[in-house]
Amino acid sequence: PSLTTRLYSEEDPVVILTSATVKQTLVNSSTAWLVQFYSSWCGHCIQYSPTWKALAGDVKDWEHAIRIGVLDCAQENNFDICKEFGIHFYPTFRYFKARGPTFDVGKTYRGADRELQTVRQLMVNFLQNHTRQDWPVSCPPLEPYSSADILPLIGQKSNQYTAVIVENEDSYVGREVILDLMMYQGLTVKRALSSERSLTEKLGINSFPSAYLLHPNGTHAILHVQKRLRFFFSSFLKLLLGVHRKLSTSGAPQEPLLEGPRGPGTAEALKDFEKSKVYMADLESGLHYLLRVELATHQTLEGEELKTFKDFVTVVAKLFPGRQSVVKLLETLLEWLVSLPLEKIPFDAILDLVNNKMRISGMFLSDQLQWVGCQGSRVGLRGYPCSLWTLFHVLTVQAASRPDALANTGLEENPKAVLQTMRKYIVNFFGCQECGKHFEEMAVASLPQVKSVDQAVLWLWRKHNQVNGRLAGTMSEDPHFPKTQWPSPDLCPICHEEQDGIHVWNEDTVLMFLKQHYGAANISPKHMY
Ligand code: FAD
Repeated sequence: PSLTTRLYSEEDPVVILTSATVKQTLVNSSTAWLVQFYSSWCGHCIQYSPTWKALAGDVKDWEHAIRIGVLDCAQENNFDICKEFGIHFYPTFRYFKARGPTFDVGKTYRGADRELQTVRQLMVNFLQNHTRQDWPVSCPPLEPYSSADILPLIGQKSNQYTAVIVENEDSYVGREVILDLMMYQGLTVKRALSSERSLTEKLGINSFPSAYLLHPNGTHAILHVQKRLRFFFSSFLKLLLGVHRKLSTSGAPQEPLLEGPRGPGTAEALKDFEKSKVYMADLESGLHYLLRVELATHQTLEGEELKTFKDFVTVVAKLFPGRQSVVKLLETLLEWLVSLPLEKIPFDAILDLVNNKMRISGMFLSDQLQWVGCQGSRVGLRGYPCSLWTLFHVLTVQAASRPDALANTGLEENPKAVLQTMRKYIVNFFGCQECGKHFEEMAVASLPQVKSVDQAVLWLWRKHNQVNGRLAGTMSEDPHFPKTQWPSPDLCPICHEEQDGIHVWNEDTVLMFLKQHYGAANISPKHMY
């Protein structure tokens, strides 16, 4: 690997600059930049790199206003350019204004405090240092609005939501939430100061920061979040019905949502469901698809594939908290597989068993696809991959709650049995090959650290969030079901905390939440065939 990839890689949310790209990137850029000139041999830079990556991840949604870059001055090709920028010490932090017409060496940040929150606030200040002429094109206004601006909007109908963050002058929450939501459509966020008495009186706000929400239909109310912190406000607003991430990568303003809350291209109404439930219809539809569609493309199973299939059937037969007819079917399939001395099984034989032979004795798995919690706003979104995640979360939770369930299977001593089965299934059979590759990379990097069934539950949760983070705003995202870091504060407020202005998970609480959410008692039979 090159020196650059030692500290920062393409997987990180930073932009890796080089002598070949840095000038053309910074001159006349549509966004402002904060660039760290570092040296890959400098111990301090190495120690600091996790903070820098965390910062870049934290402000990723601001990237159409200000971006985070890195340039490795220890790389031979970059020697000259670092000289030209006058970099004497590492790391050096430089800000570059948007729309700078000619090459300039940027403005150095000399502060000793390089904590994430401090640097993030400096980024906000730096954005505000732009003038009307060089203001980054897609950056929303960050200045506070006055009572006179806001009061006339109250009670008015509109084609989108307006959220008003009312806060003290030294607070950054409003500006951070404005930037967090800049990639979203269906909503405008404004800020106003607590000193605007006529506004605070009219809205009945007396503690700060608070958020007030004006709905498109003219109704309005204070926004109730469990903790009045940036992360809570931002995630609440991102999840409003009708608010979704702009799909365009340019970040250019898009048409407001006029068609109503579900937007264009929606064929039929969504089935009613609750986010706080898991649906058996999804799990059974997923199993049906997996057995009769995905696996059925394999004519015979042998070797590693057969072993993977057997382990998969073992794990579901023993752990799936399903209807009797389905569990019986899985158990019988397992007995049959175990009893067969064959090294190669034609998949047709399995299908015949599942579709015909077992039905006679009342064991069956519906052959309808019925997505409920996994329904998409149009065909091709969500569905099967959603059900597969759901299934494996349910199975890891079952393995943690019923320690004896895998007795006499050969998997009972292994706290990673479910995850290893999932990993092998994904690599060998999951139709999305790219997904399998990514999942395998994550497994190689961190699965060995999992030492208990509880850690297995958390590992899958953490990796799923990593995937959500990578896919947010891409074509895989159903605009009506935006990819968020899950569980969002509305589902589990006590899972979230803030330390030094940075969002952190309370993992003990997350574990409890996962066990409840994916536990057998939370699986709803609604909409089942
Ligand atoms: P999903 O991500 O499928 O999640 C389903 C449900 O699980 C959510 O509705 C929510 O209720 C819950 N949930 C969400 N996050 C978590 C969490 N952290 N812990 C527990 N529960 C959670 N697509 C790609 O385009 N590229 C990929 O590389 C890729 N890799 C994948 C790897 C695997 C192993 C799988 C199973 C799928 C992968 N996909 C990938 C598909 C993608 O992750 C989604 O499944 C798909 O886009 C459908 O998304 P969704 O909105 O239904 O939510």
